[in-house]
Amino acid sequence: MSKIAVLGGGVSGLTSALCLLAQFKDTIGELTVLASEYPGDYHAPDYTSPWAGANWYSLAKDSEHLQIQRDKLTYTLLLQLADREQNSGIKKFHLKTFLQKSSILPWFVKEGFVEGLKELSEEEVKSRKLDPSQIRGFEFVTVSINPTRYNNYLISQIINAGGIVRRIKRLDTIDQIVEVMGHIPSLVVNCAGVNAGKLLREMDPDEQGKVYPVKGQILQIYEDLPFQVIIEDLPEEDKPSPDQFLNVFPRPEGGCIVGGLAAKNDYSKDIDPELSSSILRVMKKHIPELSTATVYNSYVGFRPGREGGVRIGLSDYSLTRHIGVLKVVHNYGIGGSGYQSSYGSAMEVCGYAEKAFSQRPRCPARL
Ligand SMILES: Cc1cc2nc3c(=O)[nH]c(=O)nc-3n(C[C@H](O)[C@H](O)[C@H](O)COP(=O)(O)OP(=O)(O)OC[C@H]3O[C@@H](n4cnc5c(N)ncnc54)[C@H](O)[C@@H]3O)c2cc1C
Repeated sequence: MSKIAVLGGGVSGLTSALCLLAQFKDTIGELTVLASEYPGDYHAPDYTSPWAGANWYSLAKDSEHLQIQRDKLTYTLLLQLADREQNSGIKKFHLKTFLQKSSILPWFVKEGFVEGLKELSEEEVKSRKLDPSQIRGFEFVTVSINPTRYNNYLISQIINAGGIVRRIKRLDTIDQIVEVMGHIPSLVVNCAGVNAGKLLREMDPDEQGKVYPVKGQILQIYEDLPFQVIIEDLPEEDKPSPDQFLNVFPRPEGGCIVGGLAAKNDYSKDIDPELSSSILRVMKKHIPELSTATVYNSYVGFRPGREGGVRIGLSDYSLTRHIGVLKVVHNYGIGGSGYQSSYGSAMEVCGYAEKAFSQRPRCPARL
C-alpha cells in the first residue's frame, strides 16, 4: 500500500489530496497532508489561498489547451458543488465583464462554453460609464468562493475519506519530508505555492528563479451586489497604476471583495493607500449601486506565479542524506487561477500518481 505525503494546505494541496483519495482508495495505505499553514491562518503572506477573490474567470489563452481543459473541468465541478453542497462556501452568481472591442475574446466566450452567456446591451455599457464604441460587455454564470469556508470544507472531505492533516514546521528543502514522516513516502505531492522553487533549490536548481509573486490588493465592503463585475481594461483616466483593474465579487455570506492589482515580482507587504483610494473611486464610478459602500478591511496577497505557467509533472530525485529516491509530483505556480483550475490540476496530479503507482485513474463518482 502506498504512503503519500501532500505538501501544502492551500487549495492546490487540498484538492490534490481529495482527488488522490477518491481515485486510489484501494492503493493508498496512508495519505498525509503536511503544511505550516492551514485555512484560518492569516499570519503568512506567502500562504495565498485565504486571500483569493475567488471566482471562476479563466485566464487561459487560446493556445493553452491544457490549461483550458483544467479550467473547463473545474467550472463544471464548482457549479455542481454550488448546487449540491450547502457547506462548501460556493455560490453561483452572474458575472458582468467588460472588455476592449479590439482585444481577443476569451476562449469561453468564443466557444460559448459558460452557462447563460449573453452580450450586454450598449445601454448597459454606457450606464457603467464606459464607451460602447470601445468596450463591449458579456454576462454569464460563474461562482463566488469564500476561500476559508471552502478550504475547510475540503479538509473535512479529506478527513472523511481517511486522510490525515498535520501541521509541521517550515521545511527548508523538500527532502526534509523524509525526516518529518520517518520514512521515504511512496509519493510526495509538492503544492508549496510561491515557496516551491526555494524548496527545490538543491534538487532542481532552475526552479528557484522561475517562481515569483504577483501582488494583489483587495478591499472588503459590507454591501452586497447581486452580480460580479470585472472591468479588465479601465479607461486611462481611472488608473494610476498600469497593473490596476476592477473586480467586484460578492461573497456567498454577503459583502463583496473589491480588487484589484496584479503586480509581478512585487513582494512588498504594504497596503498602498493611494491604490486603495483609486480602487474605491473607480468602483463607485462604474458601479453606482455601491456608491455609498463602507470598507471594513483591506489586505494584500501574493499569487504564486511561475515562468511557463503551472508545473504539473513527475520528478525522481536521488536523495543525498538518505538512501533512495524521492518521487515527487509537482502542482505549483498556478498564479491567479488556483481555485478555478483546482480540479483539473488535481486530476493531472492523479495521472502522474498513476504513472508512479502503475495504476489507471478513474474519475471519482462524487467530489
Ligand atoms: C488577491 C488575490 C485574488 C485571487 N483571486 C482568485 C480568483 O478569483 N480565482 C482563482 O482561481 N484564484 C485566485 N487567486 C489565486 C489563488 O489564491 C492561488 O492560485 C491559490 O491560492 C494558490 O494555492 P496553492 O495551494 O497553490 O498555494 P498556497 O495557498 O500558497 O499554499 C501553499 C501551502 O504550502 C505550505 N508551505 C509552503 N512552503 C512551506 C514550507 N517551506 N514548509 C511547510 N509548508 C509550506 C503553506 O503553509 C501552504 O499551506 C487570487 C489570489 C490573490 C492573491
